[in-house]
Amino acid sequence: MDLDLAGKKVLVTGSTSGIGKAIAVAYLKEGAVVYINGRDDARCKAIADELAAEYKAEGRVKVAAADLSDARQAAALIERLNADGGVDILVNNTGIFEVKAFETITDEEWMHYFNVNIMSAVRLSRAILPDMLERGFGRIVNVSSECAIKPLGQMVHYSVTKTALLSLSRALSELTKGKDVTVNSVLPGPTWTDGVENYFDTLAEKEGKPTDELISNYFADHEPTSLLQRFVSVEEVAKATVYLTSNRAMNGQSLRVEGGIVRAI
Ligand code: NAD
Repeated sequence: MDLDLAGKKVLVTGSTSGIGKAIAVAYLKEGAVVYINGRDDARCKAIADELAAEYKAEGRVKVAAADLSDARQAAALIERLNADGGVDILVNNTGIFEVKAFETITDEEWMHYFNVNIMSAVRLSRAILPDMLERGFGRIVNVSSECAIKPLGQMVHYSVTKTALLSLSRALSELTKGKDVTVNSVLPGPTWTDGVENYFDTLAEKEGKPTDELISNYFADHEPTSLLQRFVSVEEVAKATVYLTSNRAMNGQSLRVEGGIVRAI
């Protein structure tokens, strides 16, 4: 199926690893031009070179390094993108998460979570959406989480930011009436990434249990309602994200890619 994405310019934030990197790859496979973002310029360049070589995409992988929790860096990135002709598709994927007891999360940490998980998306969308509306084409996807609709007691701050992203997405979609511009959210469930692997390594050390045992018991112990009974792969999230941007009739949607954990129709 031709998703009509060849040649589209796509900014995927937080695309040096994990889900963001897989989303970047999925767009490259569709023939799009992809901007790689992370905080470190050298790392972005290294990933861009790796992807260009691996997917024979010379000239289609660009570097867009910036710490998006910093308003000035975000503004400078937007200027660079505008000078390069702007973007057609914006995937706000940047996000941080950590298991932490609610009573120990400080005001500073709350503000940091808001800054990284929400304001990064607000800053880029505020600058890019008006251009999309004027040019008559645009797609925005915000990478939320299943915990946006099933908030977690062990990650209260994270869950709150992910719920806020759903509201941001739907509210922005309300501004697109009659235009070929869409704003949607994708809600991954527990997804296998280096970050998640590190989490299990740390937990195994703390609990004095083998990592493999913790991983194989994870769904029975913590996510018994999962129909998938394994971690979602980054490729599965990436496919859903690309699909969401392929069709104008999908607008204002929240697409769950969480293996059926949430028992709702
Ligand atoms: P990851 O840690 O592997 O990747 C995060 C990316 O964001 C990296 O490229 C990192 O460099 C970048 N980043 C972090 N802070 C940044 C900043 N201030 N400015 C620019 N870039 C920054 O994470 P992941 O697991 O791939 O998660 C990606 C997104 O998916 C996040 O929004 C996360 O909340 C969401 N998500 C992840 C899971 C999961 O189980 N892994 C589940 C649901 C939702």
